[in-house]
Amino acid sequence: TRKNPNEPEFLQAVVEVAETVMPFIEQNEKYQNKMLLERMVESDRIIIFRVAWTDDKGQTQVNRGFRIQMNSAIGPYKGGLRFHPSVNLSILKFLAFEQTFKNSLTTLPMGGGKGGADFDPKGKSDNEVMRFCQSFMTELSKHIGANTDVPAGDIGVGGREIGYLFGQYKRLRNEFTGVLTGKGMSYGGSLIRPEATGYGAVYFTQSMLATKGDDLSGKIVAISGSGNVAQYAAEKATQLGAKVVTLSDSAGYIYDEEGISPEKLAHVMYIKNEARGRISEYVAKYPNAKYIADSRPWSVKCDIAMPCATQNEVSEAEAKQLVANGCICVTEGANMPTTLEALAVFQEAKVLFAPGKASNAGGVSTSGLEMSQNSLRLNWTAEEVDERLKGIMTSIHASCVAYGSDASGYVDYVKGANIAGFVKVADAMLAQGVV
Ligand code: NDP
Repeated sequence: TRKNPNEPEFLQAVVEVAETVMPFIEQNEKYQNKMLLERMVESDRIIIFRVAWTDDKGQTQVNRGFRIQMNSAIGPYKGGLRFHPSVNLSILKFLAFEQTFKNSLTTLPMGGGKGGADFDPKGKSDNEVMRFCQSFMTELSKHIGANTDVPAGDIGVGGREIGYLFGQYKRLRNEFTGVLTGKGMSYGGSLIRPEATGYGAVYFTQSMLATKGDDLSGKIVAISGSGNVAQYAAEKATQLGAKVVTLSDSAGYIYDEEGISPEKLAHVMYIKNEARGRISEYVAKYPNAKYIADSRPWSVKCDIAMPCATQNEVSEAEAKQLVANGCICVTEGANMPTTLEALAVFQEAKVLFAPGKASNAGGVSTSGLEMSQNSLRLNWTAEEVDERLKGIMTSIHASCVAYGSDASGYVDYVKGANIAGFVKVADAMLAQGVV
């Protein structure tokens, strides 16, 4: 708190990790007296910069850009860029800290980073977004590279933004390299990357349910968000026999008791990805569904909840409501959507609970596979990437079980993910000396 005042999200992420990792360090002599956690909470470096650009009216606009290079013990920095008006140092530091553990869990050689800007792409023209991305990359290009730091997308940064960022990097550096992931298929992208975070979260859910001899068939699923992660979580859950009944955005949620069929989901993708509209528009086409403004979808009856929008979007009261409604499983698609108080409610109720650093690691894993394909100058088939993604999610699940199970057989996935993520980074840091 003393070193990081006014950074509540960062402190929240650190507390969650410290509560599980400190007891582990106390039991393992090799990790003692090396200041390992203390070193891990201090970023390797943070770059903060001005992003000036011109809007369509010819007015100059100024935003603040960031890149947190958190930890490179096990590989080049890797983590997304977020463009959202709420972006600040605390949020990006929490994301970069989580990313370090997540990337370690994937088994791939990637360090942790995160970045972005307090720029709001909503309501901006394509040309404005392009000029912003070009200005942002003009500074960022000095600090990243295929072997140094490889950013990807996150909230507000999808295929369109990655394309503009890549174009500007190439123009400035005269290098066609895998410096960004989430690229389009015509210029070095990987099949299944857009789907990977949502699909991976559903594969992780399958693994958790399997520990109880259960599966997704017939399950009612409540999903928040309607962006990249939410869309593909909904798609895969439906393919595996579940019924998805909600999606949301920052203005409210839709409840479709009949289930969001593939045809309805295609319409959601059109509204969000092409028309760049609001989820409320869903009910104009499907009047049997309800739109509830200014609320989150956690009061509906569901077996599985998948928060896929943003941090701290499940409160203690909402967690109690979910448990009271019979929810048996919570899988985080977003990063840290569950408050610490809500997490305690789920753990007390012995609900299957997957923390984002384990369950949403499919996205960065597939980014790692995109990097491998770029280095090999080869493209794998969708089936091949999907098989590797499934294999990675299964192995992350196994690591959580290995480090998170107690004598009764209960798996604390938060503890399992934190310790498994910590061990690999800590071993690399120990080997590399006091740096
Ligand atoms: P998108 O920008 O595609 O979608 C974000 C969705 O969340 C939108 O529906 C958006 O609604 C909603 N949302 C954003 N901010 C808020 C807010 N403050 N309050 C309520 N709703 C909000 O982002 P992604 O789907 O890529 O990311 C969603 C989450 O998943 C984030 O936590 C991200 O860090 C995490 N994640 C993403 C990965 C990826 O590969 N994309 C990988 C791993 C984690 P609106 O349109 O109204 O803003």
